[in-house]
Amino acid sequence: MQVKFLGAAREVTGSCFVLASGNSRFAVDCGMHQGAQEVEQRNHNMDIYDAPSLDFMLLTHAHIDHCGLLPALVKAGFKGRIYCTLPTVDLLEIMLRDSAHIQEMEAEWASKKKARHGRFNKEVPLYTGLDVDRTLSLVNAVEYNEEFAPCEGVSVLYKDAGHILGSAIIEIRAGLNDSGQAKLVFSGDLGRPNQLLMRDPSRSEVADFLFLESTYGNRDHKDEDQSREELLQAIDYSYQSGEKVIIPAFALERTQEVLYSLYLLHQEGRLPRDMPLFLDSPLAIRATQVFSKHYRYFDAQTREIFQSGKDPLSLPNLRLAQSAQDSMNINSYNGPAIIISASGMANAGRIKHHLRHNIWKKGASIVFVGFQAQGTTGRKIVDGAESIRILGEELAVKARVFTINGFSAHAGQSQILKWVSGFYNPEMKIFLVHGEYENQSALAEKIREQLGYEVHIPEYLEECFLKPDRGYDARKPAREKQKEVNWDYVISELDEKINSLRLHEADLSAMSPEDQLKLRDDLLDLSSGISRVIAGIDSRDNSR
Ligand SMILES: [Zn+2]
Ligand SMILES: [Zn+2]
Repeated sequence: MQVKFLGAAREVTGSCFVLASGNSRFAVDCGMHQGAQEVEQRNHNMDIYDAPSLDFMLLTHAHIDHCGLLPALVKAGFKGRIYCTLPTVDLLEIMLRDSAHIQEMEAEWASKKKARHGRFNKEVPLYTGLDVDRTLSLVNAVEYNEEFAPCEGVSVLYKDAGHILGSAIIEIRAGLNDSGQAKLVFSGDLGRPNQLLMRDPSRSEVADFLFLESTYGNRDHKDEDQSREELLQAIDYSYQSGEKVIIPAFALERTQEVLYSLYLLHQEGRLPRDMPLFLDSPLAIRATQVFSKHYRYFDAQTREIFQSGKDPLSLPNLRLAQSAQDSMNINSYNGPAIIISASGMANAGRIKHHLRHNIWKKGASIVFVGFQAQGTTGRKIVDGAESIRILGEELAVKARVFTINGFSAHAGQSQILKWVSGFYNPEMKIFLVHGEYENQSALAEKIREQLGYEVHIPEYLEECFLKPDRGYDARKPAREKQKEVNWDYVISELDEKINSLRLHEADLSAMSPEDQLKLRDDLLDLSSGISRVIAGIDSRDNSR
């Protein structure tokens, strides 16, 4: 059997593992690549998935970094069945429709931008609503803990991963070659024990090969109660100063967990009664409805609240902002308020507008409740940027920044180790996926030290041939395939900046002589930087 890592290899997005066993070829997840431009460029390289030859798809859960490329795969010729749990079916629909809408808007925006530069060929969206319709027609719901056979020679079992509603650990039994079967376990995104709403992650006990997520491989989370206290601190701080609390949150799961936390604070009488709570994300509003519909999948405590007729995902001062106009109205609301909006890493969506209106205000707070990937706006703010560019404007960061990691839907380091300690076959091989390399290395070290397993950290596009003795041969990808810089993007970004500089020429001339000299020197420095790059290219050309 052969496994190819088409994403979530030394990074947290783009989960996709393609398996080939006997005559069948199938995949676990098909997520969108998110973050730096070079990484997102991979979303447009669908050829390497060889979609028509994939027989079926096993989906762990409905987060976009696990399912977001499914419609692109279908567009590229995938016709097999997509297996996932019942709640995932509902969540998948709203996530993919939202994603298609974003793709269509972005393509339209890019086409307009190109037209302004005199290029009139239209940008094609990665996929559209029609591709989503076709994708949803391929979906097959499965129950937790009921084994099924998607094709001859392969059997599959879904177990609750306790990460988000409907999330799964996937166990696969398949033939390695003529000499028998192997059991592969994909942890998917692994939940945090005692997480609000969710049941604890199920245990797996035996595997020949374990594909283990490692998002928080290097650290533990604070506990949930402490995180709730921190959230309250942020709220009190901004309430006293009459400003707003901005919470960038993933629409799916994190939003509901924050709502639940606020519900608990409200029940304890600790939330200011005259501080409205805005949920400004149509996607998060819909996801919350799906959560309430499938409450039987939650832990005992949550089920009890629902069964008693109460809704722990709703508060008396909760206001839902559906339309763009509703969203804009929030900005003209005077006085303290809490605003939950997406995206969770602040690099897209309505949250950008709320940051633009509030990040420069002393007394406001920005509360991060989820993982911030490299290259995102959220990561820059968390890393302490003094100013940040949002919607074309450079803004000073004066709001207080809170990073609360106790709400995470991922297991922390000790929790991952504890989960892995539930396996009892010492020959098992572990492949670490879904984590940044530094975090993965830290986790690999701990696993080797404490549990004695052999650990491998595959690269993007690496292929591993799994052998019956639980060994494997790894084939590293060709170097040039690994990083593809989108030069067209880089150069047109520079172009755009020069153009806007030209538009500001009159403003420059109107500045004080000192300011003009300083800016001139800054620009000449940049210009000589570009000259150095060009000289570097020329000297390579000449040496050929
Ligand atoms: Zn996830
Ligand atoms: Zn994930």
